[in-house]
Amino acid sequence: KTEAAAGWNLENSYSQLPKAFFATIDPSPVSTPKIAVFNDSLAYELGLNSQSLTSEDGAAILAGNRMPEGSLPLAQAYAGHQFGNLTMLGDGRALLIGEQLTPSGHRVDLQLKGSGRTPYSRGGDGRAALGPMLREYIMSEAMHALGIPTTRSLAVATTGETVLRERGLPGAVLTRVASSHLRVGTFQYAAALGKTEELKALADFAIKRHFPEAENAENPYLSFLQSMIQSQVELIVKWQLTGFIHGVMNTDNMAVSGETIDYGPCAFMDEYDPATVFSSIDIQGRYAYGKQPTIGGWNLARFAEALLPLLDEDQDKAVEMAQTEITNYTALFQEHWLNGMRAKLGIMGTESEDEALIQDLLSIMHKHEADFTNTFRALTYETAADLPFMNSKDFTDWQSKWEQRRDRQQESKEASFALMKKSNPTVIPRNHKVEEALKAAVEHDDYSVMNRLLKVLSAPYEESPENIHYTAPGGPASCDYRTYC
Ligand code: AMP
Ligand code: MG
Ligand code: MG
Repeated sequence: KTEAAAGWNLENSYSQLPKAFFATIDPSPVSTPKIAVFNDSLAYELGLNSQSLTSEDGAAILAGNRMPEGSLPLAQAYAGHQFGNLTMLGDGRALLIGEQLTPSGHRVDLQLKGSGRTPYSRGGDGRAALGPMLREYIMSEAMHALGIPTTRSLAVATTGETVLRERGLPGAVLTRVASSHLRVGTFQYAAALGKTEELKALADFAIKRHFPEAENAENPYLSFLQSMIQSQVELIVKWQLTGFIHGVMNTDNMAVSGETIDYGPCAFMDEYDPATVFSSIDIQGRYAYGKQPTIGGWNLARFAEALLPLLDEDQDKAVEMAQTEITNYTALFQEHWLNGMRAKLGIMGTESEDEALIQDLLSIMHKHEADFTNTFRALTYETAADLPFMNSKDFTDWQSKWEQRRDRQQESKEASFALMKKSNPTVIPRNHKVEEALKAAVEHDDYSVMNRLLKVLSAPYEESPENIHYTAPGGPASCDYRTYC
């Protein structure tokens, strides 16, 4: 009866793929499951019952001690270029427990992250610490509210156990919700198996799940590649427009669904600087803010390579096709990015000088170390007086050019500002605010700070009195801000 009340409606279509793509295994039980955070509105969307899932029985499921009806827990196999080196990986500390069919007819993966060792754990303990799981919860829900495609977080359950990192930390399990967990790396893994049949099975699965219109194309696999490129362009442009830095754009962390996945050392940029890096392990700055578009293209080239056997029987022709698509990526990206920047500036239509106007502003911001989010917020809400650099001659000269540009367009000033309000968040998860919330939760078992932050982040395009308290950049301490996976 509890099962029915909980609303589980699980299928396991991924387990129909060839055996090489997964290993079935149960989560490892933990001592004391307890729900730390639970996402009521997401549960509702999924057709799951909050009351049931936050009960003792629910906590046992979300910590991995008991599996719900219809579940077939499995670890997915994948490979990945990690900082440029191809490695065989797989879910080393996560399990897909099933695909929930939602009341609105969607199929989403439910995954437990931190659920114990799997055949792909290598040296790892299969576990996750509470801080990073809460961080993923905050960041992914913030991204969702910003309108950026992302995996989501249903719950974080504490385990009552200690995980050993640099020191002992409280353990936790995150329930991650995703359109799927197929990655570029899953295709690299399939290609490495060297059997076209298995690669084809995976590609057909991905097409059916994410790009069903490709099934009817003349060349479904070429269409798949094109759609994948399009969805990554749309995603990474959104990152660039909000100052989001993923931090570990390894090919295993690029989802075929076009969702942001794997919240490790990600963070939002304060001062505009293309060289911004937060990850403590990204010594070379491979995944710096300004490099994300290029890395996206690099990862897509790896994806195209993996698909080669399916693109055409004639491999020379296949390479040519793949190259054409990968070459198109750069122009496609630039076009999308320009349109996005136009919207941030309330610019409608296109003029050939728009790009220069946009680049000028970015150069001025870079020179004056202007806060990325607050600059666009000040332009949107006409509160330029708040930001000292906006009194500089650099900026006021630029501002007159911007005003002239807007005067030349037919749309009203109101329409222009309305577009800006939709395109410029007032709040992002500021590093110091996230740290403050995590500290209260992890060290003092006080979730009130995190819950207030989550509430503010759920309406990021509002200029409310509450939001104003969350707009300050971190101050000097945030310059040294480093994130850890
Ligand atoms: P990531 O850096 O999060 O993309 O993870 C890279 C690989 O390391 C994936 O295969 C993970 O499953 C694995 N991994 C990360 N942390 C652990 C852990 N504590 N135990 C086992 N495997 C892990
Ligand atoms: Mg990963
Ligand atoms: Mg990770």
